[in-house]
Amino acid sequence: MAAARLNMRKRYGLLTRGMGWETTYQPMDKVFPYDSFEGIKIKDWDKWEDPFRLTVDAYWKFQAEKEKKLYAIIDSFAQNNAQLNLTDARYVNALKLFIQGVSPLEYGAHRHFAHLGRQFRGEGTRVACQMQAIDELRHCQTQMHTLSHYNKHFNGLHDSIHMFDRVWYLSVPKSYFEDAMTGGPFEFITSVSFAFEYILTNLLFVPFMSGAAHNGDMATVTFGFSAQSDESRHMTLGLEIIKFMLEQHEDNIPIVQGWIDKHFWRAYRVLSLVSAMQDYMLPNSPMSWKEAWQIYFVENIGALFNDLSRYGLRMPKYHEVATAESEHLSHQIWGTLYNFTHAAALHTWIPDDRKMDWLSEKYPDTFDKCYRPRFEMFREMEKAGNRHYFMGLPQLCQICQVPMCFTEVMTDSMMISRRVSLFKGDKYHTCSDGCRDIFENEPEKYTQAWLPVHQIFQGNCGGAEISDVLKWYHFNEEDSGEYVGSADHKRWQAWKGQDIEDETTAVG
Ligand code: FE
Ligand code: ZN
Repeated sequence: MAAARLNMRKRYGLLTRGMGWETTYQPMDKVFPYDSFEGIKIKDWDKWEDPFRLTVDAYWKFQAEKEKKLYAIIDSFAQNNAQLNLTDARYVNALKLFIQGVSPLEYGAHRHFAHLGRQFRGEGTRVACQMQAIDELRHCQTQMHTLSHYNKHFNGLHDSIHMFDRVWYLSVPKSYFEDAMTGGPFEFITSVSFAFEYILTNLLFVPFMSGAAHNGDMATVTFGFSAQSDESRHMTLGLEIIKFMLEQHEDNIPIVQGWIDKHFWRAYRVLSLVSAMQDYMLPNSPMSWKEAWQIYFVENIGALFNDLSRYGLRMPKYHEVATAESEHLSHQIWGTLYNFTHAAALHTWIPDDRKMDWLSEKYPDTFDKCYRPRFEMFREMEKAGNRHYFMGLPQLCQICQVPMCFTEVMTDSMMISRRVSLFKGDKYHTCSDGCRDIFENEPEKYTQAWLPVHQIFQGNCGGAEISDVLKWYHFNEEDSGEYVGSADHKRWQAWKGQDIEDETTAVG
């Protein structure tokens, strides 16, 4: 059949506008029961415009190209044993954190965007969500395929999906995402597409990918770029849905602002783990967390909200606290991970002199004053054969689930920040004004939080001893603890000792 060639816009129009209809056997509200209970008012779904207007055949073609390139690079990475070209095996701990804590979020995004692809009554929005659902599944898969090579040579990468559902520090990303998934469809998309993907995603992917490039990990750079090109589509979806809601009805403005405040803070707390990865786990850091925050949040997002102010939106609440925290965040999180590494499937260590000097240079106002003395003391203790771990269980924040390690950065940065709320006669602890507000706005939801420490105390995590809990996490003994002297470290030294000749041959 010689059908007339339609242009992309027409084909997209047929795909997204021609496929929907007003239902008659059942009322529309029964067919689409989820998109109205949150109070968002939509007068005209046809006003939704997807700037990408991607049709299914074009989508498969683009994605197939990207897959071909990615898998060619992963293959050659594996065949050349390119893990030997890393700057140092310490770097791999960033990958452990990534596959344990981030890849499962990609899978969660896949599931929930598929749900949205069914539940919005506008066809254009449904198609955009469906495409994103497929993207997210691809991200999860390509990350697993890429990192499976590292799993052959390093510990802690063997069972990330199992770990994600159980391990204390992974409860930080998991609880955030499940918070979004248990909201309505508009809250989810505001959270994931706007607060996370539009406002904060650069703070995850850009440092992570340039970090990989600076440390010899071309496989990760490639999956990062492959995902990042989808990300620009996702960020557009995030921004479009916000504008769409705001243009449809003025009653939507306070609801959307509330979600932005809440999910900015929740997603930002998840990124505290990334700050530690960026400043401490990367042997060569391309930029500090503080510098990245300045560029990607203060400058870029500041400009974005200048634009959005004409819709009646303002910057997310407590953004100034997050900016003040950028001086402290990575050091506090690294210190906490260091204290509890005996119960983590990754290693920590005290930064060497070169790294300490880099941190002093990047954080002239805080590192030497607040953090260097502590790390130097830990180093002395290690030298004396006294590498310490904190053997108790920490108080967790009821919302973000991070151990109480943040401080009062606006008033006294040496003082632990802690808030207490009362609800039905019980006390609930949060780490900040941001987390406290979230709790107090929906206490019924957050009193149900699955807090890892409480669950251990209640006997729900494999037993009463730490070793029981670690078994229940599916950790092997060699996954945890200090890096120096670990199996990863010994293997790396053996390779580097023996393989100098092989490396020369490979280069030649
Ligand atoms: Fe993704
Ligand atoms: Zn918190």
